Amino acid sequence: MADTSTVQVALRIRPLVPSEISKGCKSALDVITSLNQVRILDSEKAFSYNYVFGSETNQEIFYNICVQPLIKNLFKGYNVTILAYGQTGSGKTHSMGTAYKGEGEMGVIPRAVNDIFDYVKDNFGYDFTITVSFMELYQEILYDLLSLKPRDQCVVEMREDINKGIFIPGLTEQVVNNMSETLDCLLRGSQGRATASTNMNAQSSRSHAIFTITLAMQKKGSSESKTAKFHLVDLAGSERSKKTGATGQTLKEGININRGLLALGNVISALGDDKGQPSYISYRDSNLTRLLKDSLGGNSITLMIACVSPADYNVEETVSTLRYADRAR
Ligand code: ADP
Ligand code: MG
Repeated sequence: MADTSTVQVALRIRPLVPSEISKGCKSALDVITSLNQVRILDSEKAFSYNYVFGSETNQEIFYNICVQPLIKNLFKGYNVTILAYGQTGSGKTHSMGTAYKGEGEMGVIPRAVNDIFDYVKDNFGYDFTITVSFMELYQEILYDLLSLKPRDQCVVEMREDINKGIFIPGLTEQVVNNMSETLDCLLRGSQGRATASTNMNAQSSRSHAIFTITLAMQKKGSSESKTAKFHLVDLAGSERSKKTGATGQTLKEGININRGLLALGNVISALGDDKGQPSYISYRDSNLTRLLKDSLGGNSITLMIACVSPADYNVEETVSTLRYADRAR
């Protein structure tokens, strides 16, 4: 098995944003770096994780410490899954770099892509075929974000095969030869992502975005081959629908989203439990967990990035994220 535990959790606290500062928000969190612990001020609550990053942590340090060490496992044939969890506005897209437009500080995805192609360039022993897909899961429906067809014709469906595992007929699997081709796919897909506005954030992301890099490795002069899947998932906002003032259509979204996040929490918590037996892990409860079934547990490594705002105004949602992440440890 890989030289890491199956599920790791990194807590990332973003800085106060201008809208919080102008409301007079104060930080409600205290980080004890040496213990990888966060405490809620004015309460007894404390949580610890594999990593705790305070608001001073930049993108480079964040990536180098908790993501970069995982990349080499892909080349050994292990699947790697990185999930960004948290309320809308907590820094999921910023941390993952899902919407990277070629400027500013890069998040996880562009840095990982860079490292993957660096590794490929120096590895003469194998022939590599690298493909990417980009899906959006919105109200339990899967969309192919790299399809060239109109949005209503981009729906794809999961199938399960005893030998192949989960597969998705018709999904666009784009072959990529370098970092720039890969980031073009990322940008094209992220521009097609559905959003619906809520009081909390006009561009609130109500869907899960799943960017997948597949590495097929064929050893030169040999029949030995291996494949690794690298899922980079920008999860839907974890906020409960009540606080966002959602009604009707948006409320329905809230309920479906919670189903995926709830199922994910259950799966990850069962994986982290030493006594957890595979037969008790209920991947079937949502399309999110079905989709990730072959990449959570077993021959794979999972990093959950729990994103939180430091603001006292958001403390209720923050505690809910800290609890969710605590179950995953
Ligand atoms: P989410 O995807 O969880 O809804 P975003 O990633 O869009 O949240 O972040 C919300 C806002 O906070 C954005 O303006 C983003 O630039 C800013 N932000 C998030 N994390 C950080 C960070 N670590 N440092 C600086 N700004 C951040
Ligand atoms: Mg986002």
